[in-house]
Amino acid sequence: MVKNQIEARGVNDKNVLAAMRKVERHHFVPEQYRQYAYADHPLPIGEGQTISQPYIVALMTEMASIKTQDKVLEIGTGSGYQAAILAELCDSVFTVEINKKLSEKAGKILTQLGYKNIFFKTGDGFQGWQAHLPYDAILVTCAPSEVPEALINQLKEGGKLVIPVGSKIRQNLVLFRKFDGNLVPEAAIPVRFVPMIDEKGNSY
Ligand code: SAH
Repeated sequence: MVKNQIEARGVNDKNVLAAMRKVERHHFVPEQYRQYAYADHPLPIGEGQTISQPYIVALMTEMASIKTQDKVLEIGTGSGYQAAILAELCDSVFTVEINKKLSEKAGKILTQLGYKNIFFKTGDGFQGWQAHLPYDAILVTCAPSEVPEALINQLKEGGKLVIPVGSKIRQNLVLFRKFDGNLVPEAAIPVRFVPMIDEKGNSY
């Protein structure tokens, strides 16, 4: 998986590659899809949601250039796989998921796997997670049409935000850095994520 799907596409950060080798993706995939756990695509995780393609997880992690002392906010816990990768590389991961069942399931798996630096919240990621700001990096794994204001406010000055922004069917994965309180785009790649929704399932 790492060699053919991730390194071959140009992800070369040694720490990211090591984390991708260490965390076993099959723990995060439902029983009936286990045989595809290391395949080159997203997979259903229930509740109409998906675990992202391994390459996208690696790419987003590399884009955020996570450091060991960093406090990272993730929006869209989903299976918990991306949170595990981040937790291998930084001090602490704060992850917000709108779907209670998914949040609880991810919490259970990550606790079983022994992670003590991942903190879970069921709630609306449009609000971020006020209690632990500011964050050195923020990764959003569901796609809003615009960057949520709260996330800009909760990002540290000089910090990095990696977020897919765009319509329901097509987005750009954008790397922003915060300078003087404003976001400056540094890179953008076309992607397709599930939409960011509210409690009623509406997307914006
Ligand atoms: N990072 C995940 C990918 C999950 S897919 C993984 O590694 O498996 C995106 C997730 O975002 C879904 O679980 C979906 O329920 C969640 N989501 C959608 N809108 C959200 C919102 N407003 N706040 C928090 N999570 C949201």
